[in-house]
Amino acid sequence: MSEKFKGSFTQQEPIPEAGIEAAMAVLRHGRLHRYNTVAVEVAETALLEEEFAAYVGAKYCVALASGGAAMACALRACQVKPGDPVLSNAFTLAPVPGAIASLGARPVFVEVTKDLTIDLDHLEEQAKASGAKVLLLSHMRGHVGDMEALMALCDRLGLRVIEDCAHTMGAKWKGVASGRHGAIGCYSTQTYKHMNSGEGGLLVTDDPELAARAVLLSGSYMLFARHRAAPPAEVFEALKLDVPNVSSRMDNLRAAILRPQIGMLDDRRARWRALYQGMERGLEGVAGVQLIPRPQHEDYVGSSFQFLLPGWEPARVAAFVAGAAARGVELKWFGAADPQGFTSRYAHWRYAAPEVLPQTDRVLAGLIDMRLPLTFAAEDVVQIARIIGQEVGVAASARDLASVAAPAAD
Ligand SMILES: *Cc1c(COP(=O)(O)O)cnc(C)c1O
Repeated sequence: MSEKFKGSFTQQEPIPEAGIEAAMAVLRHGRLHRYNTVAVEVAETALLEEEFAAYVGAKYCVALASGGAAMACALRACQVKPGDPVLSNAFTLAPVPGAIASLGARPVFVEVTKDLTIDLDHLEEQAKASGAKVLLLSHMRGHVGDMEALMALCDRLGLRVIEDCAHTMGAKWKGVASGRHGAIGCYSTQTYKHMNSGEGGLLVTDDPELAARAVLLSGSYMLFARHRAAPPAEVFEALKLDVPNVSSRMDNLRAAILRPQIGMLDDRRARWRALYQGMERGLEGVAGVQLIPRPQHEDYVGSSFQFLLPGWEPARVAAFVAGAAARGVELKWFGAADPQGFTSRYAHWRYAAPEVLPQTDRVLAGLIDMRLPLTFAAEDVVQIARIIGQEVGVAASARDLASVAAPAAD
């Protein structure tokens, strides 16, 4: 009988005790709404914004209801209008094109490279062909491309960059925090990301007008003076009657849960990186498997792991994924014909205009993805890599693919 992995790919760590205590205090006083404060009290949400801004080295920060809400808020702050083209990665998660569609704007997809970053040549082509003024750049699965080359290109093309840092909170490029290269950085604090409040989002910028617009958009009414990581009152005065309230605030309960997690991000990055590198070592040299290079200047958070099965026909990939699943190893395949769980790809987003992206199709056809929760131990990763290596071998050499996909009798 072959070994099975018994752990869970979806089990995150518990909320730290300090977060639980702070949450209990909020529950006990009952003032969960961020503007429900007494006397000199500063809301947990305002403190979270101040502390997160300091962590990434930004002037301004706004807490929102989700990462998707943060991206939509960022697009609105940039005054994207219905019908406007907005560039984004073809390889990303559904809330990214969804944020564009929520404004009635048009997603225009850009090819992904085999390193899983945006293709800069195609970005230039699509920018010129569409006339887009904004790029919603998704650092999908934590892969950060050459940010200097990207920013130089976007400056030349007159493109404003909004960064989707759902998988790069705590990551850096050449020492600069992810989310700090573009005009706005957006983060998610949904359970599967790098800080966990169930749902939640953060938006950072150094631009006072964008920050004031984001605060007003988030639903500040005329209470914007209670924010701390926000520009001075005169910036709001000029805008307060023009910017709609698109209610999507974060509350004090979630902010309380998150504040103690900011100080844990660097340690989490190191622990995630150790799991990631363990996976890399385990799969190095497995015939048929192509690992994703990680550039020297990318200080990444390896909260998930990807590899390619280049040139594999779909039935063989499907047999491999089924074989691994039968042994407790839960893999996602971005090339599957139908979207499953959290994974869908650009061709599935029928609200967007259809595009032909052969390079992205080729990459996604063999792209395998898995979560690496911090509840995994070093030995878990060794075992998972061993099982993957064996199943790759079985699927690669099988003549009768149907028999590979059948669950092993045990
Ligand atoms: C999770 C995720 C988001 C959105 O975050 P939510 O908080 O779930 O709205 C955006 N982009 C990527 C790449 C994500 O994985």
